[in-house]
Amino acid sequence: MKRDKLNFIIVNILLMMLLSLISFIGFYISLSSGMNLMRFFIIFISLIIGCIVLFFIWNIIILIKLVKSREISKLNYKIFKRFLSFFYPLLINVSKLLQLDIDSIRRVFTKINNLMILAKDIKVRSNEILILLPHCLQYSKCQYKITNNIENCRLCGKCNIKDILGLCNKYNVKCVVATGGTLARAWIKKYKPKAIIAVACERDLTSGINDAKVLPVLGVVNERPNGPCFNTRVNIDKLEDAIKFFLEED
Ligand code: SF4
Repeated sequence: MKRDKLNFIIVNILLMMLLSLISFIGFYISLSSGMNLMRFFIIFISLIIGCIVLFFIWNIIILIKLVKSREISKLNYKIFKRFLSFFYPLLINVSKLLQLDIDSIRRVFTKINNLMILAKDIKVRSNEILILLPHCLQYSKCQYKITNNIENCRLCGKCNIKDILGLCNKYNVKCVVATGGTLARAWIKKYKPKAIIAVACERDLTSGINDAKVLPVLGVVNERPNGPCFNTRVNIDKLEDAIKFFLEED
């Protein structure tokens, strides 16, 4: 995680420096340019980029406060959420350019998202929680089709589905398997949850979190001891912690 944070900080600093430099060059050219229309245009663009840099700095302050105090006001939550959805694609593109590990940026993004959700202290009833699981959690040679109905699992214990079903029964929480974004959206439409716990790889988690917009999504990154998308695992304790977090106390 230390390396993830370092990558994230490097990309953010470079991005901010790049934007500041563009804004500075713009102002410099506009002051030395003789053409009035061109000067006006460059000043306008430089002002916009300058505002983006200020917006960036403001959100970094929100992030530092969030990490330190685990608190976020409603207004800052909305601002920061917009900031993340606006800057996230930029961060990914800059990371690609620098050939950094993109998954490390996605992991930090998921962690920040989880921090925001935890800071909001959202409480719902057990039947308002939906757990979305990736299909790759199922043992690859299992013959039972669990994508339509996870209850088809015969609880043999060869994969985490057995333990997950145990958790879902213990807390009376709905749990489904989604083979992709379309099916995940269909499950959400069907069950209309008020809170989601999503298990997936970094890429699917971040796109799911960005997709959900208003719904709170706690992300749990899956473990991939056999490589991507094949017989993956999930930390059951982390999943249970996520359920407990959302649950209202009796
Ligand atoms: S635990 Fe369930 S899903 Fe996993 S291999 Fe056994 S029967 Fe299949």
